[in-house]
Amino acid sequence: MNKNFDLNRLVRPNVLQMKPYSSARDEYKTDGRKMTFLDANENPFENGVNRYPDPQQGKVKQVLASQKGVLEAQILLGNGSDEVLDLIFRAFCRPQVDNVITLPPTYGMYKVLAGLNEIEDREVVLKQNFQPDVDSILEKVDERTKIIFLCSPNNPTGNSFLEASVEKILKNFNGLVVIDEAYIDFSAERSWLERLEEFPNLVITQTLSKAYGMAGIRLGICYASEEIIAVLNKIKPPYNVNELTQQRALERLSKPEEVNMEVQLILTEREQLAANLSKMAFVKKIFPSDANFILARVENAGKKYEQLIEAGVVVRNRSNQQLCENTLRFTVGTPAENQELLKKIKGT
Ligand SMILES: *Cc1c(COP(=O)(O)O)cnc(C)c1O
Repeated sequence: MNKNFDLNRLVRPNVLQMKPYSSARDEYKTDGRKMTFLDANENPFENGVNRYPDPQQGKVKQVLASQKGVLEAQILLGNGSDEVLDLIFRAFCRPQVDNVITLPPTYGMYKVLAGLNEIEDREVVLKQNFQPDVDSILEKVDERTKIIFLCSPNNPTGNSFLEASVEKILKNFNGLVVIDEAYIDFSAERSWLERLEEFPNLVITQTLSKAYGMAGIRLGICYASEEIIAVLNKIKPPYNVNELTQQRALERLSKPEEVNMEVQLILTEREQLAANLSKMAFVKKIFPSDANFILARVENAGKKYEQLIEAGVVVRNRSNQQLCENTLRFTVGTPAENQELLKKIKGT
């Protein structure tokens, strides 16, 4: 247990003083009776989406809470994880004053959001084995360090961070530790969600964009203590998750076996693709992946990338990221897509 953790000291003073915006849908709480709603200036003629959506997304949270074993009050939903991450920045980091720590090579949004919010981004490069350099990270911390971002499994390297390393950071840092678990459903490692109660400074983000196959609806999820979620709730736009998104998310979440089947197929394909790529002469190294993509070190990544584009296949060239010289990132596709990739690579 992190005894020195003081949430009120971390929250921006202006946010601490704010009361949440109270929308029409927030003020009147339904008691089950059939009511006539003349409170929100909506068009009264029904078409399925003429009413404002539930600002607290109660139905979606109820399903997530029961599936994940947390309280609804420990969940915040957003317009993709990107909105969730932005809310975390804005609730805790004072522009031009505070700083965060990120561990490149990693997901690009942390840096974009730090820039947007005028927050210093203190980078501590991963070690050669793509694991966090815990001592260097803790050395970078000062009294204005509000958040450490850990992406595990990490994008673009694909590996999960060692549990002992993450635990040491959680225990020795009094700010927030955000663990981005966008790829957790593809990993053999367990989610940090199981240990949420142990760490008052732990914030976990997940998304329906990857394993759940719903990148198009934009639904990001944040799990944290009730106190942290209450802070984020104060500043979130009232209707940040639209009605269509809530409906589609509910449908998908109610069919976990479908999602699971697709994930299993992607995992089988991942192993197959890794094996096939590793046989190719231009591939120098395949990095082990806990995600739905494979990072490979290759000969002349830039040229290979262009040749693949020419052949109609788009992969990601990650060569300009630290530790990722001459690397390509391959998303695992359908069996047919992966075959096509291999065929095109051979042909180039
Ligand atoms: C893809 C990805 C996300 C997903 O972001 P959404 O806004 O939820 O689509 C989050 N974090 C990482 C590391 C990712 O790679």
